[in-house]
Amino acid sequence: MRRLVLKFGGSSVGDVEKIKHAAKIVMEHAQSTEVIVVVSAMQGETNRLLELAKKTYNPLVPNREFDQVLATGEIISASLMALALEAIGLKSISLTGNQAGIHTDDIYQDASIKSVDGSKIKSLIEQGVIPVITGFQGVCDDNITTLGRGGSDLTAVALAHELNADQCWIYTDVQGVYATDPNIVANNDIFHQMGYVTLKKMALAGAEVIQYAAIEYAENNQVSVRICSTFEPGLGTLVISDEAISKPIIVKYSGLTKLFHNAKTKQAYIKLFKNKIVYSSDDCYLLSMVLPEIKTKLRLIQHLDIDESIQANQTLISIFTPNTMFKKTLLVYFESITYVEILSTKKSDFVVRILVPDYKMKAMVSDLHYFCRDLSKEAVAL
Ligand code: ASP
Ligand code: MG
Repeated sequence: MRRLVLKFGGSSVGDVEKIKHAAKIVMEHAQSTEVIVVVSAMQGETNRLLELAKKTYNPLVPNREFDQVLATGEIISASLMALALEAIGLKSISLTGNQAGIHTDDIYQDASIKSVDGSKIKSLIEQGVIPVITGFQGVCDDNITTLGRGGSDLTAVALAHELNADQCWIYTDVQGVYATDPNIVANNDIFHQMGYVTLKKMALAGAEVIQYAAIEYAENNQVSVRICSTFEPGLGTLVISDEAISKPIIVKYSGLTKLFHNAKTKQAYIKLFKNKIVYSSDDCYLLSMVLPEIKTKLRLIQHLDIDESIQANQTLISIFTPNTMFKKTLLVYFESITYVEILSTKKSDFVVRILVPDYKMKAMVSDLHYFCRDLSKEAVAL
């Protein structure tokens, strides 16, 4: 039977009504699937507990008692979730990190998972009981440890791996991973698929949709992760290996544009964008770009598409243009090509997946040049 780990974040279990709502989602899955539930503390609870501990003991140093205090947040939400499941007729029990067999090192407040003994959870599943596990915590030599902020994601991914789950679903308050920060850019679209590496880069640059350590764990153990909404329908974003999907070239995000490069393109990018680089790492730059600015965008599109060193035959291009004529032209063009899949076309923003066979790349580049030349005239006229 298919097996899923379902993790609910703090905002999804923020109050009793939300916990009941999440329990219904669990029930729907449980009709056809084996499910293991992981929960975060109720929204704001971990911060509240941390404040209490800090008020009692300062300066803040990693300390066993802090972890004891912090771990209570997830114990409450897990028990309430088990009660909510019982209330709708499902058999369920909650387990702490210790009871669930999650063993960590002894780094308080930032522990790493060393091993997971899934035998207890497995036997519960066999008995038709839905286990609800406290996220964010484990045990080291009988001491409670916590996994660092956002650590419930890591709990969920580690359990999915240990229990051979088909997927780990991270239920949250956004609909998936957005091309740009949904709080900053409206009419935004989510990625239906995304690679671990890309998501790790976004997380490093500040995207908060999933804990960095959790993606890393998922990548190392090839756990498929789905990030989706507790409150809106939809399948959200499936996070899988980068090789399995298109290679992203640009990811716009938070009003900045993120540009991934390889060794060959590096020098060219530095030259082209030297005043705009606000962050750089070995294989990507974050550029401060004024997104609606046609000329800047134009250069970016032109540059990307004349770049001969793009090796992969799949490219994900996110194009942002306030120019509706240009957008229409490009759309008509892309629609006419079978190897281009238009992923989203909202207002001034659209994302296309281009699966360009190598021998077609040249033709496409010159077409794009042609369109961009037109746009350039308009940009000057503006
Ligand atoms: N409750 C913990 C936190 O707020 C862990 C989590 O939510 O994932 O950081
Ligand atoms: Mg979180």
